[in-house]
Amino acid sequence: MLLSQMERGRSRLLRRSAAVLILLALGAVVSLGTTWALVLLDPTKQPEGSVLALSGPGGKTYLASLAHAFGRDLWTVTCAERTPYTFPQAPGWLPLPGEREYFSISEGWGWPARCMMQHGYLWQNNGWMADAADSFTWQRGLKTYQFPTRILWWGMLLNTLIWSAAAFVVWRLVRAARRRLRARAWRRRGLCRGCGYDLRGLGPGGVCPECGRISAPKPVAPGGALAAS
Ligand SMILES: [Zn+2]
Repeated sequence: MLLSQMERGRSRLLRRSAAVLILLALGAVVSLGTTWALVLLDPTKQPEGSVLALSGPGGKTYLASLAHAFGRDLWTVTCAERTPYTFPQAPGWLPLPGEREYFSISEGWGWPARCMMQHGYLWQNNGWMADAADSFTWQRGLKTYQFPTRILWWGMLLNTLIWSAAAFVVWRLVRAARRRLRARAWRRRGLCRGCGYDLRGLGPGGVCPECGRISAPKPVAPGGALAAS
């Protein structure tokens, strides 16, 4: 008796852990999917945001401009002279241009948090050079889509948790709706709403001998439900 109870508890724990893992995996997949879907939808960038001065390694000063869109942040950064002022520190994930690069362009994608980025350089004469290691391109007609592949871990963690929670809510709603529909169908056929046990012949307002639920089965026309089942 006790052993079977322990076994049941353990199997429930296993099932719950599996459900949590599946939900987290689903959240990660949805985070990645929304990020790449945003690239496909190509949300229009607002006009360039304000120019910020940032300080980076070696006491250097960088000038950055930030353009926003839904699920999209575009940073353009250039190295300025060393100045005696101190400016806010550049975000840790933001690549800063070195001596040879003119501008560094970084695009963070994802919603609600930016969870992936791609990165390139604007050379003085060469145009934009994408860093091939953190994006892949897909050509469709005249349009080229560039999908980021570098993960911003904090953003990815946050998005995964948020999307997992959303998946959990959807799953519970779907399960509740299915149970309700099933109970209604059982009741219509004269079966117990709780477990589907056949209550015909027990009389109205009886207690289900299987699960103890008090049921008020609808009177069933003789032969009707039997012929249907
Ligand atoms: Zn029952």
